[in-house]
Parts: sequence; structure tokens; C-alpha cells
Amino acid sequence: MPWREGMSDTTIAAEPCTALAAAGHTLEPYPNREVTLGSLHVARALPIRDRRLVGPWCFLDRFGPLTFDSGKPMDVAPHPHTGLQTVTWLLDGEVVHDDSLGSEAVARPGGVNVMTAGSGIAHTEQTPAANSGSLNGVQLWVALPASHRAMNASFHTIGQVPVTEKNGSLIQVFAGSLAGASSPAPHYSAILGADVQIHRGERTELELQPDFEHALLLLSGDCSVEDQPLAERTLYYLGTQRSGVSFSSRGGGRVLLIGGPPFPETILMWWNFVARTPEEIAQARADWEAQRRFGEVKAYRGPRLSAPQLVRFARPNPLS
Ligand code: MN
Repeated sequence: MPWREGMSDTTIAAEPCTALAAAGHTLEPYPNREVTLGSLHVARALPIRDRRLVGPWCFLDRFGPLTFDSGKPMDVAPHPHTGLQTVTWLLDGEVVHDDSLGSEAVARPGGVNVMTAGSGIAHTEQTPAANSGSLNGVQLWVALPASHRAMNASFHTIGQVPVTEKNGSLIQVFAGSLAGASSPAPHYSAILGADVQIHRGERTELELQPDFEHALLLLSGDCSVEDQPLAERTLYYLGTQRSGVSFSSRGGGRVLLIGGPPFPETILMWWNFVARTPEEIAQARADWEAQRRFGEVKAYRGPRLSAPQLVRFARPNPLS
């Protein structure tokens, strides 16, 4: 149903997402959900029913590791975003990004692609024709704070993020700062995103910001946190007020560490939009369907994605 003037009491099947910062230390496991994007199977770590946000991070998909001989396992047709940044971090393989600003960039291991949607952008993500036959990575979304969520869209690609060695580990910082390394990626509220590789048989201690909340996802190998082994496909929420964390690994392992101060605003997530009210979501959906606001991804051959139906006067989607 199209959005009309006067729908001020609209309720839709959108997810209201609030910070649920635990007071102090915790190590809470949240199993990922299996979802499919076209033919690609992904493990969705965020959002989850009991933990909507970790700092400003509001979405985390883990794809791969997988190998292929032909075709393109990732082929996401033109679709819109508002109110968020997308952050693509790869362990192996390549993803080519094209958007309605005309930006094109291939994400590769060690680099990061950051798209700031602001008031609106459309993009595509595909396995490029020239590829290594592997795909392994994560895509995250960052909720933009009220002060920046209506900004103009932009796109940044960073070929190699800062890397630092610290007694027993190799740390790549793709958002914010950790262990003396700072990512040049633009963000609009305090944030941390890092890939921590713990060498075989080593133990490493990292300083954390006590006013941040943090979470961990095992990316490969084995890793223990405070002597608890991390399970695969599980997000571990660490809570707030930690001044440090210790990792150890028997055979070598790699962990994604994300964090930020508990997000002070309640956001509403529906499809690819981060908003504050159902009316904003209905307007963004109507604009996409009418080919307004978001522009065209001219580099992509093939049809654009259609927005799902708004389910009106329904209970919030349980994100099954
Ligand atoms: Mn997208």
C-alpha cells in the first residue's frame, strides 16, 4: 500500500532497535541465524532478538568461506539504503561495489569499503568477473546518529587498513582505533571494528575503552576469551566497562571485534532502511518504488530489487 499524507499512526512490521547495554562484564553467546541472499547462504549475527545493536553497529552478515569454479556467488541487484553506513571487510576473495553516485570499487582482503547512505543511495555488490574463486568476509551496517543521518551519500574505499603487531597477534583496524592503530574510514559516532589474528599457541591482551560495549565473532581457527573457547557462528556480547580483553589460541585463530558506546537513539530497521519513524520508512519505500531520490546504478546489467510489501498494523517482525 502506498504511503499517503495523514498516515501519522502508521505501524509497520519494522524492527525497533534499542541498545540493551549490560551493566559491566558479561560473555553472552547469541547463535547466528542462517539466511539466504539470492543463492548465497549467510550467517546473520546482528540484529538478534535480544541484542539489536552493539555500539552503532546494527547489522552483521558473515558469508563464506566458499570456493567456486564459475559464476558469481555474490550478485545483489540494485537496492536502496538510508540512514546507515555499509562496511565490507573481506578475508578472501573480491566483491565489486557500484552505486548511484557512479562509484566503483573492488573490495579485497586488507582493505575496507565504506558507503555512507545518509538520505539515500542505491548500490550493487557482485563477485567480479576477474576473481580468485573464493569468497569469505563480513558486511556490517553502522546506524548514523541523528546529527548525520540526512547527510549526502558518499563512498570511500581504503586499499589497506592500518595493521599492528602486538605480542602474539596481528591486528587490522578497519573502523575506529585499537592497539595504537586508527582506521582512516569516516564514521560519525565513536566506533571500533577490528580483525584480530591470534598466532598459534599465543595469548594477547588488548586494551578496550570502558565506555564502549563490545562483541566478538570467531572468523576462523580457534580462539578463547578469558579461557572460554568461542563457538563458530555465534556472536559473543562482552558488555560494557571492560578496560581490556585477553585472547588465546591453540592452533591460530581470527576474531572480529566490534564496539562503541551504547547507541543513545532507538532506530527502526526495515528492509535496507534505518529510520526513526514508520512514516519515514513508508516514504523511503515509496520513493524507491517510484524511482525517486536514490538514483540509478548505471553500471549494473539487470533488474533492480523491488521493496517488500509494507505489512500494516502488524506486530513487529520477529526476525525469524
Ligand atoms: Mn546493500
